[in-house]
Amino acid sequence: MLDLRLEEVKKEIAKRNAQTIIVQVPEGLKPRLTEILSELSKTGAEVFAAMDPCFGACDLPLDKMNALNADLLVHFGHAPIHRPQNAMYVPVYDRVPEKTIKTLVTKAAGILKEKKIKKIALCTHSQFIYLLESVGKKFEEKGFEVLVGDASPRIAFKGQVLGCNYTTVTSVADKIDAAVYIGEGHFHPLGLALSVNKPVFFLDTSTQKVQDFSNELDRYKRKRFAAITIAKDCKNFGILVSTKTGQRYKQVALHCKKMLEEAGKNAFLLSMDLVKEDYMAGVKVDCFVNTACTRIVGDDAEHWKKPIINPLEVEIVIGKRAWEDFAFDVLY
Ligand code: SF4
Repeated sequence: MLDLRLEEVKKEIAKRNAQTIIVQVPEGLKPRLTEILSELSKTGAEVFAAMDPCFGACDLPLDKMNALNADLLVHFGHAPIHRPQNAMYVPVYDRVPEKTIKTLVTKAAGILKEKKIKKIALCTHSQFIYLLESVGKKFEEKGFEVLVGDASPRIAFKGQVLGCNYTTVTSVADKIDAAVYIGEGHFHPLGLALSVNKPVFFLDTSTQKVQDFSNELDRYKRKRFAAITIAKDCKNFGILVSTKTGQRYKQVALHCKKMLEEAGKNAFLLSMDLVKEDYMAGVKVDCFVNTACTRIVGDDAEHWKKPIINPLEVEIVIGKRAWEDFAFDVLY
């Protein structure tokens, strides 16, 4: 059972004397939304839920707060990217039994030793961040050197990753033999595999299996090469600019437009909150450039009817970057 820390949240609401609150939860917590709203309403505040889909702390409903004249945002389940005064973040930890951790570390240690791996970078998502210290110690007891990369403005904790940012691993990549992600779901280990040019191992806390993601980067590169090749022959580009708080890269979009126009292409700036393929129906462009969440290209490109590329890939399309220097885009 996930601990939602509602008593702590209620105390903080009282301390701040908040009168109108917006609650934001990730999609996976929506089954518990009414429980959260009922409990927080006991403070006497008016409590609204932000119902638009929320996939990360990159998506704070600040416009909605203005519209509803709210004085506090309570965001559950993600670590901060932005830190506005009128927002509080409530971590939601997924507690993993000690037995599961020991099993996973023992299995992983066997696999890593077989591959002669000695130095690892350890990372996870914010939901499992509390595990890193104890898991790191367990690997050290088994003879591994463990590195946990530093936080940065977009990353709140040491060793934390986001789907769009693996700098806690890439910053130490030249000192490691492999990267190890512990947690649940393929989203983050896959992104890690696309971001770091080292073997990647996923310690899955839900299945208790250890998976090798080391070949994912090659597979991904093949797909991207195909998209880039098509994009080279396109004339009209739609540059997607999200207005979400942590996916808003207007300057990157303007830079892409300039690069494309200098290369003799036409480029149009298309802005929206949620970047969605459905919204593009009827727009007369041949290719899209995504400046929002990098995973729209990383995970979803196949669902787009026209090619969609990331800003670094634009550089390859216009010949400014060599294919050998291909990299997965990072959001800072
Ligand atoms: S930009 Fe995408 S990957 Fe990054 S935090 Fe937001 S939803 Fe997650």
